[in-house]
Amino acid sequence: MAVTVDALLSLSKRRGFVFQSSEIYGGLNGCWDYGPLGVELLRNIKDAWWKAMTYRENIEGIDASILMHPRTWEASGHLAQFSDPMIDNKSSKARYRADTLIEEHIAKLQKKGKTDQADAIQKKLDLCQEPKDYHTIIIDEEITDPVSGTKEWTDVRYFNLMFKTFVGPVETDSNTVYLRPETAQGIFVNFKNVMESSRQKPPFGIAQIGKSFRNEINTKNFLFRTREFEQMEMQYFIEPGTEAEQFEYWREQRWNWFLQYGMKPEVLRLKPHEKLAHYAAAAVDIEYLFPFGWGEIEGIHSRTDYDLKQHQEFSGKKLEYVNTANGERFVPYVIETAAGASRSFMAFLCNAYDEEEVEGENGKTEKRVVLRFHPKLAPVKAAIFPLTNKDGLPEKAQPLYQDLLNSFRVQYDVSGSIGKRYRRQDEIGTPFCITIDNDSLNDNAATIRARDTMLQERIPMENIKSYLLDKLG
Ligand code: ATP
Repeated sequence: MAVTVDALLSLSKRRGFVFQSSEIYGGLNGCWDYGPLGVELLRNIKDAWWKAMTYRENIEGIDASILMHPRTWEASGHLAQFSDPMIDNKSSKARYRADTLIEEHIAKLQKKGKTDQADAIQKKLDLCQEPKDYHTIIIDEEITDPVSGTKEWTDVRYFNLMFKTFVGPVETDSNTVYLRPETAQGIFVNFKNVMESSRQKPPFGIAQIGKSFRNEINTKNFLFRTREFEQMEMQYFIEPGTEAEQFEYWREQRWNWFLQYGMKPEVLRLKPHEKLAHYAAAAVDIEYLFPFGWGEIEGIHSRTDYDLKQHQEFSGKKLEYVNTANGERFVPYVIETAAGASRSFMAFLCNAYDEEEVEGENGKTEKRVVLRFHPKLAPVKAAIFPLTNKDGLPEKAQPLYQDLLNSFRVQYDVSGSIGKRYRRQDEIGTPFCITIDNDSLNDNAATIRARDTMLQERIPMENIKSYLLDKLG
């Protein structure tokens, strides 16, 4: 069942997955807050990634600071090149990424079946290098502003996406620092520290999860493109010459990770980069089929020794591996896996969303919205329902609830019919609902109902915890 962004937004707000940032003040564009259920889902995604990546012999984790020495961004190229081409419309005052504006025009042509024209523009877009190249396409193709409908465009200018701020009390150029636009550089600058302190040698990796900031020109599509987001990145340092096989290995590992956590293969694809950065040996994106089309959720990049060499040059410090046995030394090559935690969150939410017709309590069919999360990712693992709030049922249900809380996130719900309570839990993706009824007082058993199959089983209460541990892994 395909979900729309509007349906996701409304469910997210209603059930506490995601709220607009500072909503009571009208919100802040491109920023979102994770609510009680969202924060659980996000943590579960990050935990799953952390375990998959760092519970290995040769991958170490770090947590670097968001503010870094400004030379970092000179070395990485972000100061000079981390910018998007931007254009303003004079009548609407709306600002666009010039390349996105052209891409949207191409998509429209494709929809109308004008594929030859669309392909020709795409070819020109691929060749764009300077602001005027984008401008020429926009003018030649008579692209209009989606807001005002006019063609009154300014020139195209580059706009650096890094947020600037100052350290210390004085706001001068020499005190300028940047909020990191990616977590990768925190890993590169710590390459030597980690290798030496943890006694690793290539091939070995460094993994990090953390916030990154980009002053995106257009934020849109909910969590897909935001100004503050979280990344899950790993840089794998290898011997030069092994990059082709290591790239294949990590591409497969990362692809399988998404499948392992319940992504349907038909909504995932691998998209090799057509234009490679000058230093890159290979690059591929893992894309998810979002309600608005395919979008990157993770990039796997073979980056040669470019990053470490840049930092060597700018810092004056050697960033190489020396084999003490034979004296051999080299600057390692890098395979990078760069995933967005918040984008993956949105992809997992879309992937889980389902609607179906089921038989309701009164025998009539009704719609059920169900989030079919992998149990490991589900924000709430089980819900306990005493059938009524009397006759000793709460007294029977509470000890079980308290006991399960020691191991899982569990909810307790006494209000409304059992059918209504099931629907509430289905809508947040809770894998199991446990009902304590009057029979439970005699047989000391409860009914467990599974979210996906809606099948029910009667289970002795003392076995419920091990049942859940078994099913939830
Ligand atoms: P895009 O082309 O979509 O801007 P990118 O190629 O610049 O992305 P990378 O620099 O490779 O992205 O970042 C790695 C991952 O970080 C992306 O795959 C994505 O999941 C996430 N990411 C990047 N920018 C954003 C953003 N503005 N909002 C949310 N997630 C982002």
